[in-house]
Amino acid sequence: MKDLMLYFHIPFCVSKCAYCSFYSIPKAKEELKEEYANALIRQTKLFENSDKYTVRSVYFGGGTPTVLGVDRLEKVFNSVFETFNVINNAEVTIEVNPCTVDKQGLSLLKSIGVNRLSIGAQSFNDKTLKLLNRAHSADDFLRCYSQARKVGFSNISADLIFALPNETLADFTHSVNSLIELKPEHVSIYGLSVDEGTPLFKNKSSYAFPSEDEEEQQYEVLCELLKMAGYSHYEISNFSLPNYESKHNCGYWQRMPYFGFGAGAHSFFKCRRFEAARDVLAFIKNSHISFTAPTNYDNSVPLSEVEAEEERIMLGLRLKRGVEITKPVPKYLLDNGLVKKHGNTVSLTERGFRVSNSIIAMLI
Ligand code: SF4
Repeated sequence: MKDLMLYFHIPFCVSKCAYCSFYSIPKAKEELKEEYANALIRQTKLFENSDKYTVRSVYFGGGTPTVLGVDRLEKVFNSVFETFNVINNAEVTIEVNPCTVDKQGLSLLKSIGVNRLSIGAQSFNDKTLKLLNRAHSADDFLRCYSQARKVGFSNISADLIFALPNETLADFTHSVNSLIELKPEHVSIYGLSVDEGTPLFKNKSSYAFPSEDEEEQQYEVLCELLKMAGYSHYEISNFSLPNYESKHNCGYWQRMPYFGFGAGAHSFFKCRRFEAARDVLAFIKNSHISFTAPTNYDNSVPLSEVEAEEERIMLGLRLKRGVEITKPVPKYLLDNGLVKKHGNTVSLTERGFRVSNSIIAMLI
């Protein structure tokens, strides 16, 4: 049986965050959510009687999956577990935004097989959360986190953003320390990207963004504090306590095949990468045809050997454990402590992680 991962994309959100350039629909009507959940179930059911795959991880991302409503999520989860051969210790993650699910909802998610939560904190500074138009406060995050612990979640990841507007190093350090105090098993960090077309981009002259040096300082403080608290920096943007690396995300970096269900979901299957149309109505309309039709599988081109090899190196270098590279590594990278080499295994150092894009470009 072949190993497989499943991804379900829920493109609904409470409101639109000021920096968001993803495909997401704020304030969707209940009827649309109902139709979307039914479409996901229909697509899942197309795999009925398929015992070719062993599912190692299931991930519900978005958008904000919990905006779909826990009752609908329960129906979708049930169809996944009924249809696919999901192994007993599979990692089953759902992304949660504080305020979109209460204690009872969290308890229901646990009872239907979710064993990992990824909660978006982003910052512990309420002024920043407001500026970003996040739909929650720092207290909301703390409440959600504590409720999740109370109902028995023992594997929680939290997201933080650095290089935020109007934030000093002290503000950011406060966010990092507040998160560390809670001891989540996993932490993901992202540098803010101010993309064209977002409200933050339009108003960017009104805010003070950290300079490159300040950004660097924030990143260094973050790495240092997390390391002191026992976290391993196992991937460019991810830290975990021992044995809590995200299995699903590690699968992406190790090029494990996955099916992505839902509008805008990506898949990697039989050496082809393809994306479903970013259109909820088109996804609903096509959901009964076949998995491949609405995802443009038939039109996608298999990766060439060269492309596949470049991808293996590019994704493998994201991980602290590194990747096998047979061609010579520029001496400059080794001498400057940006890259390490053990036999043929090449990995980026923490300094190397910071400038990973240019190093990766040199190594592929
Ligand atoms: S919650 Fe995520 S997907 Fe939704 S608007 Fe905010 S950043 Fe975008």
